[in-house]
Amino acid sequence: MAVRTLTHFIDGAYREGTSGRFADVFNPSTGQVQARVPLASKEELEAAISVAAEAQIAWAASNPQRRIRVLMKFIDLVARDRDALAELISNEHGKTFEDAKGDIQRGIEVVEFALAAPHFLKGEYSSAVGTGIDVYSMRQPLGVVAGITPFNFPAMIPLWKLAPAIASGNSFILKPSERDPSVPLRFGELLQEAGLPAGVFSVVNGDKEAVDTLLDDDRIKAVAFVGSTPIAQYIYERAAANGKRAQCFGGAKNHMIVMPDADLDQVADALIGAGYGSAGERCMAISVAVPVGEETAEALSAKLSERVKHLRVGPAMDPESDYGALVTAEAKARVENYIQIGVDEGATLLADGRGLTVAGHEEGFYVGPTLFDNVTPDMTLYREEIFGPVLIITRADTYEEALALASDHEYGNGVSLYTRDGDTARDFSARVNVGMIGINVPIPVPIAYHTFGGWKKSGFGDLNQHGPDSFRFYTKTKTVTSRWPSGVKEGASFVMPLMD
Ligand code: NAD
Repeated sequence: MAVRTLTHFIDGAYREGTSGRFADVFNPSTGQVQARVPLASKEELEAAISVAAEAQIAWAASNPQRRIRVLMKFIDLVARDRDALAELISNEHGKTFEDAKGDIQRGIEVVEFALAAPHFLKGEYSSAVGTGIDVYSMRQPLGVVAGITPFNFPAMIPLWKLAPAIASGNSFILKPSERDPSVPLRFGELLQEAGLPAGVFSVVNGDKEAVDTLLDDDRIKAVAFVGSTPIAQYIYERAAANGKRAQCFGGAKNHMIVMPDADLDQVADALIGAGYGSAGERCMAISVAVPVGEETAEALSAKLSERVKHLRVGPAMDPESDYGALVTAEAKARVENYIQIGVDEGATLLADGRGLTVAGHEEGFYVGPTLFDNVTPDMTLYREEIFGPVLIITRADTYEEALALASDHEYGNGVSLYTRDGDTARDFSARVNVGMIGINVPIPVPIAYHTFGGWKKSGFGDLNQHGPDSFRFYTKTKTVTSRWPSGVKEGASFVMPLMD
């Protein structure tokens, strides 16, 4: 198969990379290299920032209705091309075609939300705060802002970042994951077709060199990151040291607490979907099931063991596949290594996904569904994010013990509770030390008009993604205190005005 050479998208057009450095883009379903993506040099990044800075001035000066009309058109264009975009995602990421359509849809919902920009950019006004004095505030764009995004949602997360940023009047430079950059590049073309002025949105592919340039350049005013925790923390610290605003979302270890009164068939189905969907490569995947009480644990363990036998793992474009391959050979090796660590540390391996081959796709990066029971909190499998199709059962004797497990874990992205008891649900929501909670909902990703963000090592920064927080993140508040000359009658004043 011919290996395509991808580009950047800068100043309204696809641009060839000039650094001479490239990374391979695989088709995980087949294991073959299908493209190579250029890795930008510092100089390429700096040139893109110059273009973005120039374009931002006129973009910020255009009124917000004009800006959101571009996004309205973009929504239609993405809908027109949805299947082709979803196929591109499947072929670079390995997730199934249906799941790839969801990746696009959950991103587009935030673009729809960003159409409310004129409302969110309104300031506040107080008249006559003193004699003849009025105070008002306005929300102004930051300038040029950057997004650095992970491989696991190549459409959704770039859309979460770019839509409110652009609607607010910023220029946006996206540095997508080098594993699956084709859909972000297509977004450049579609935004252009929708009428976005050249330079307002750019895609610059790259690795640490590109990211560090974004972090160090004074013209970048904010950095919006999603990825693994060590990189999130690094980006947060370096951005802050350089005086930038930063929101950096990291890894996860999401628990599902299963109370004895829960409907265990519903729980088992939810766990199978939330644990193995997208091969477990979701930051909101459930990776730890916590049944409360011996009886619940025994019954749940049996139901999950039975269900994993029927999961179908296969190529992304095969409609029979429940989930597909992992993103790279390294990701597969890392997950298989965790399975061995689990065995070595004494957990009970109920289903072993190692050594799976898919007929006709023997080189694909597949790992079968893996299930462990009796995983204790001191084990590596419990403490670390595996990011693969590995579900573990960690048993708790009481509700308080289960609550403490989720609260004390170093990650705090999402957590779910299954129960029929309203008092327990209410107590849990109030007390658990985690950012996003599901009550009888396995993957509690908040809808676009609420905000998304984890706690503890899952999120660094003050303002979340999407919802009203996103407009706060991408704008700064300016406050004007005004008085007309006719109101000044008393000559110089040397004391603080009392406004009484
Ligand atoms: P990653 O941290 O390897 O990469 C994320 C981005 O950072 C990519 O654009 C990558 O090029 C860049 N990057 C990687 N190493 C870098 C370095 N040393 N210096 C500067 N930049 C660097 O993450 P990934 O493997 O692409 O994505 C999976 C991770 O993302 C998981 O940990 C998952 O939980 C997390 N994630 C979190 C959320 C959330 O909202 N909390 C959502 C999705 C994914």
